[in-house]
This record gives sequence, C-alpha cells and structure tokens, in this order.
Amino acid sequence: MSDDGVRIYEVGPRDGLQAEETVVATDAKLTFIGLLADAGLREIEATSFVSARAIPQLADADALMSRLQRRAGVRYPVLVPNERGMQRAIEAGVDAICLFTAATESYARHNINMGIDESLAAFAPVAATARERGMWIRGYVSTAFGCPYEGEVSAAAVVDVSQRLLELGVDQLGISDTVGVATPRDVRRVIGARRDAGIPPAAIACHFHDTRGTALANVMTALELGVRCFDAAAGGTGGSPYAPGAAGNLATEDLVYLLDREGLDSGVELDGVIEAARFIGQQLHRSVSSKVGRAGGWPLG
Ligand code: MG
Repeated sequence: MSDDGVRIYEVGPRDGLQAEETVVATDAKLTFIGLLADAGLREIEATSFVSARAIPQLADADALMSRLQRRAGVRYPVLVPNERGMQRAIEAGVDAICLFTAATESYARHNINMGIDESLAAFAPVAATARERGMWIRGYVSTAFGCPYEGEVSAAAVVDVSQRLLELGVDQLGISDTVGVATPRDVRRVIGARRDAGIPPAAIACHFHDTRGTALANVMTALELGVRCFDAAAGGTGGSPYAPGAAGNLATEDLVYLLDREGLDSGVELDGVIEAARFIGQQLHRSVSSKVGRAGGWPLG
C-alpha cells in the first residue's frame, strides 16, 4: 500500500448477510469470501459467533471458520459477543475479533441486551484473552451518528465509548452510522472530536450506510480528516434494519470506483469486486443494487 493507500474492510459476509432474509449456504459463503480475497481485499469480516437463535443467517459460524482456507496476508475478523462466543472463536482458529457496543444506551440495550457500562465490563475478559493470544481487536461503536431510539447523538458520547474501548486494548474503532443518517457535517463533528480527545486517525475505521445516499460524501469527508480505513459490503448487501427496503451498507464496488478515480490505492480490483457482488446477488436471488455494480467501471474495458 502506498502513502496514498486506503484500506477497505469488507463486511459483506457478516454484516451484509446477517441482514438478508435468504440464508446462504456455507459453501457459497466460502466461495464469496474466496472471490473477495481474489479481488484484493485483505480484511474480510467473515461471520459472527452470536447465538444461532439470534442470527440464523450466521448459524454456521463454527463450520465456516473451520473450513475457511486462510490466505497469507488476509485477516478474517469475526464478531464475538461474550466469553462463550470467544471460546467458540478460539476453537475455530480465529485470530481477529470484533466487540460491539453503542454510543447510546437505548440502542445498546435493544441490540445486545446490555447497557454500555455492562457491555464494556463483559468485554474486558474477552479483550484480555484476545490480547494474551495476540489477536487483533476491533471495537464497534454503533449509533455514532444517530440513534433510532434517541435521535441525535453527541460527539462526546462517541468519544467517551471510543476511549473506553481503547482502554480495553482494541486496535481499531469501527465508528458506525447504524441508521444511515450521517452527512459530511456530522462526520466533521464526530470524527473531528477525536482530535481533541487524542485518538489518532489510524485507530479509526468508518462504517457508513448508503440508506440516504450520503455514504460516499461521508467517505470523502473522513478522508480529509485523515481516516484511512472504510467498511463496505460487496453488492451493497444488508438492508437497513431501520428503513425497510432501503439500501444498507456502502457497496464495496462503489467505494473502489471512487478511490480509484481519486488516485487512492486500495489494492482492490474493481472487476473482481463486481464479480463477487454478482455471485452473492445470485445466492440471494436478486440483482446487485449498487450503482457501479450495475453501470460498471470507467473507462469501459
Ligand atoms: Mg452495516
């Protein structure tokens, strides 16, 4: 990766598929993850060790991670909700995990059945185990730009939970626009606030949703603020749970196209991502919803 490099953190196999009605077979998920690695993605969030009852779409996490053929230089983080999930992750040979809490109390309670304090207390032993084993750790901060229960969210709330996650030893924060409401002004407000708090941009990844068509504008703004890691899902999978029928995750192909044309190297091949997006679209029995997935790149090949 050059100095102008940007990391794309692929969330399709986990965040994308967990929100889709269709349950994708383990074999197809493995093919999808392989296509993403073929396209040059080096961070692919593979699945989640939450209970199969809570998220049936990812009920095959143990089998998936045991069968996954890991490639050199590719990281495959998984979500871990508690110590039991951590045990399963260790047994499946996982070496990178994600913990997830929120910037707002109501969302944390609805999403993970724990308040923010409680969630951080529950993560402490999980993070300690992960650190002992040399695992890479991400800490998700949901509802960083808006909350379906509390509305507007203050930058101070995001900074507070971010700092507490960093104290647990997380390597990276996933600052997430769960509801898909952020505009560039929100990004300047929330991501800008971390400067005063002494959180380096290298510790931040932004997770934008394209629910209201603002994801790429938000990426450009975060780039200007020094952020160099962005989440995206090939095919734009994962509808927004708070806006039924609307777009969810920023599509990886839309992000790659923008970065390519801006001269920012992500090491990811657009055609390869479009192929992966089409593949997963077939598995979900629907066409790709992303703009670049439909129109293709430019110049025309
Ligand atoms: Mg998402």
